[in-house]
Amino acid sequence: MSDNADIPKGSTATLSQTGQTKIHAYLIGGGIASLASAAYLIRDGQMPGNNIHIFEEMDINGGSLDGKGSPEEGYLMRGGRMMEEHYGCTFDLFGFIPSLTDPQKTVKDEIFEFNKDHKTRALARLIANGKKVDMTSLGFSVNDRLDLVKLMALSEDSLGTQRIVDYFSPDFFKTNFWHFYCTTFAFESWHSLVELKRYMVRFVHLFPNDGLKALTGVWRTPYNQYDSMVLPLTKWLKEKGVRFELNTQVTDLGFIHTVAGKTVEKIHLTRDGKSQVIPVGNKDLVFVTNGSMTAGSRIGSMDAAPALGAKKDGGSWMLWEKIARNNPEFGRPSVFDDHIDDSKWESFTVTFYDPTFFALMEKFTGNAAGTGGLVTITDSNWLMSVVLAHQPHFLNQPENVQVCWGYGLFPDAKGNFVDKKMSECTGREILIELLYHLHFTEDKDKILSTSKCIPCMMPFITSQFLPRARGDRPLVIPRGCANIAFIGQYCEIPDDVVFTVEYSVRSAQTAVFSLLHLDKEVTPIYKGQYDLGVLYDATRTLQS
Ligand code: FAD
Repeated sequence: MSDNADIPKGSTATLSQTGQTKIHAYLIGGGIASLASAAYLIRDGQMPGNNIHIFEEMDINGGSLDGKGSPEEGYLMRGGRMMEEHYGCTFDLFGFIPSLTDPQKTVKDEIFEFNKDHKTRALARLIANGKKVDMTSLGFSVNDRLDLVKLMALSEDSLGTQRIVDYFSPDFFKTNFWHFYCTTFAFESWHSLVELKRYMVRFVHLFPNDGLKALTGVWRTPYNQYDSMVLPLTKWLKEKGVRFELNTQVTDLGFIHTVAGKTVEKIHLTRDGKSQVIPVGNKDLVFVTNGSMTAGSRIGSMDAAPALGAKKDGGSWMLWEKIARNNPEFGRPSVFDDHIDDSKWESFTVTFYDPTFFALMEKFTGNAAGTGGLVTITDSNWLMSVVLAHQPHFLNQPENVQVCWGYGLFPDAKGNFVDKKMSECTGREILIELLYHLHFTEDKDKILSTSKCIPCMMPFITSQFLPRARGDRPLVIPRGCANIAFIGQYCEIPDDVVFTVEYSVRSAQTAVFSLLHLDKEVTPIYKGQYDLGVLYDATRTLQS
């Protein structure tokens, strides 16, 4: 497929020296990491769009950044994504992607305007026994405070593969702080202490001004992230000629050694059930999204529980495992894909055809839809949270339909009201459990008969938070490699935090600027920890 056979093997010539029209880029995975890489290859690498090939095994792009459905079948989003002002790479990307509806605006403009007009201030962040929890105190002991401050100062190497539970006292896990923090970001006590530390530092500027208690610094997109981000980005890439190759699973890569280093020379794939080998020229570029937090996702229905998927279900983990087997610099995928009991949880999306549930929630919380945040039920055995986004949340959503999203961090616990594990429950049973917790029982039958709750089990949803050591994740450009980059959530980028869109876009910038030897700096990470004002305010917040 490549037409760059005229470039001598082992040459280190850059795009501008060789003529970018001769170089092809092959991107494995159709998530935001690949879409962003394609956009930077075009904008900064001046690569023609039709030299860029995106292989995606599903029949749709966007990967984990999903959102789909119709009023008839019900809506589904595996996740609802929060952002904040300092998503520097994400806003850099969407600063050059035109809005779908107004060509004078970019997607970034739309997001900034939306968040100016729709500010978050959650009035019922934590609830228990159908009532709001008193949140005047974060609930810390003096030792908890010291432990937190010390954690922020310790080096990652000194923390090693410790889990969060290994570091804090048992009482820490009963504090309001832990309930806010673990449910805002989906941390569980057995997750990586290093990752928690990164979060504490990266988002320290969100502590003050009720950032923790009321989620005041949280930003959102006008619609779900598929409609607000993936659709306009994909449209722009298509207009530039990028080739989207859906239903195409990459199964292996072939390598040779050249003077430039380890070089991908072949891509093995199956397309519509047929095997194919794509030759890769030695100046061509290969971007691999290794691993995926939504691999193996399974959905249920109002009357069926979702099954539990496995790593063999798709190409994400299998490809990474295959290429890492003989290439230690490609990381250790088993650290992330072999612990489903520690990495799974379940989300649910409810489509309401009657306004009762939204009206009850708005009255109970004091927040109009889209102005609150996650409402976490601290006495729920499943540790359920639910959030009402601004409506409509889908471009094709009619006015008389409303959609909300929720999740449970402990799907293997039995419900407080439904005597079953969450993982065994149908959508109807999950909704019943939620309605009992909220004390909305009077309207239970009406709500149940006018809604569709679709549960989604995600075996690897927090795999990126599992305890990891140096070398478990490959560098974006592993040492000694000539034309391969790792992008997404499982490559190593200093200081930034996984389980974010921002990390994937940062990996894309890093990969493109490095592989093309561009004289461009990756958007710096905002470092609130070096701002004395931020530190002072954060310390005061921790005193409460
Ligand atoms: P993915 O989107 O996982 O994309 C990988 C893609 O590659 C998939 O489509 C997969 O099918 C494909 N693929 C992989 N291997 C192969 C192969 N061999 N052949 C062909 N195709 C392949 N982010 C935030 O910033 N804030 C939040 O609040 C937030 N909350 C979230 C809540 C949930 C429930 C979820 C699911 C995600 C959340 N995220 C959040 C995270 C964010 O959505 C992800 O970090 C981001 O979308 C990951 O993008 P990616 O491109 O790196 O990987």
